[in-house]
Amino acid sequence: MRKIFKNLSLIDVKAEEVIEDGLIIVENGRIEYAGDFNRGYSEDNKAVDLGGRTVLPGIIDSHIHSLFDASPDPFGSLEEDSDSMITIKAVGFMEETIRNGVVAVRDMGGLDYLEFGLKKAIDNDLIPGPKMQVAGRLITMTGGHGHLIGREVDSPAEARKAAREQLKAGADFIKIMATGGVMTEGVEPGAPQLTEAEMAAAIAEAQKADRKTATHAQGTEGIKNALRAGIDSIEHGVFLDDEAIELMLENDVYLVPTLAAVHCIVEEGVEAGIPEFAVKKSEAVMESHIRSFQMAREAGVKIAMGTDAGTPLNLHGANLYELELMVEYGMEPLEAIRAATLTGAEMIGLDNELGSLEPEKAAHFVVIDGNPDENIRDIHFVDQVYKNGRLIR
Ligand SMILES: [Zn+2]
Repeated sequence: MRKIFKNLSLIDVKAEEVIEDGLIIVENGRIEYAGDFNRGYSEDNKAVDLGGRTVLPGIIDSHIHSLFDASPDPFGSLEEDSDSMITIKAVGFMEETIRNGVVAVRDMGGLDYLEFGLKKAIDNDLIPGPKMQVAGRLITMTGGHGHLIGREVDSPAEARKAAREQLKAGADFIKIMATGGVMTEGVEPGAPQLTEAEMAAAIAEAQKADRKTATHAQGTEGIKNALRAGIDSIEHGVFLDDEAIELMLENDVYLVPTLAAVHCIVEEGVEAGIPEFAVKKSEAVMESHIRSFQMAREAGVKIAMGTDAGTPLNLHGANLYELELMVEYGMEPLEAIRAATLTGAEMIGLDNELGSLEPEKAAHFVVIDGNPDENIRDIHFVDQVYKNGRLIR
């Protein structure tokens, strides 16, 4: 089926420019044409008039936790709730996510593979939601960050086995924990955790299976351990230094800053019911986190948008808040939009399908009632969302 959209401003994320009088032609759920109206239009009075609104490619959130409920204490909820309750909540979260313009997500660690069923249900059109990539159990050291939901390992051999288990279960990529973090009581965000050799073993298994790897990494030493081990993306990257940034550039490693995660915890605080240890640790890292993001950006590190949605008060569906923060800390609006579309697609290996509106790619796009290229806050005025050319919202 053919659908034509006209009277729209089109954000070209590749060129980082806006095509004022744009046209989109969708054929069987794929982009046939997206560009200048005058170059693509032939007489057709069934075109959908978008009233001058702005169209951008569907957003990719490269770091979420679909099963975390964004309550003040998500790990507490996971312990309390039954599997069916956790899953039912997550169905709602994924619907909220796509309704707000996010067409693809990377799930950075679930619980007992419940998120694998969620992914399948979305793929089979049983429920609305974004396309999901899933990691399964995150791999951490015994007692390490995220151990409540992770697979604990204490040697390269165990790390290799743990990675193989996730691949066997159907993981799209492997998530490993290079350092401590704020959400697990008793671990230090700055402290290294898995060793370089342990991470290298897990990464080797992922590479053999042609899968990407991502690491939760906050402290400098752990970040460098992960980089030397051959990681594909650094998540959070709170304490970057020049050497770490140099290694990232040399090895073409992406940064997913997840600024929203720390912001939500610090803004809402203990008064909102967030555990005190998480608030204290977040306050302590916030400044370095922002500085690291700015250093990486200035050095030219590739940055993909990720929110850590599901962590305390970091709501599913509020994903676009991250773009506001990226701009607040130095990015141009179009640069942030590119991070949340094309760069994300490249990082997760789906840029043949997602990330920009180009011929052959899936017709996933968002219609915004405003000009986010001028004022990034307009990104919140999501008017319509299309997945495979079908109206979702
Ligand atoms: Zn996370």
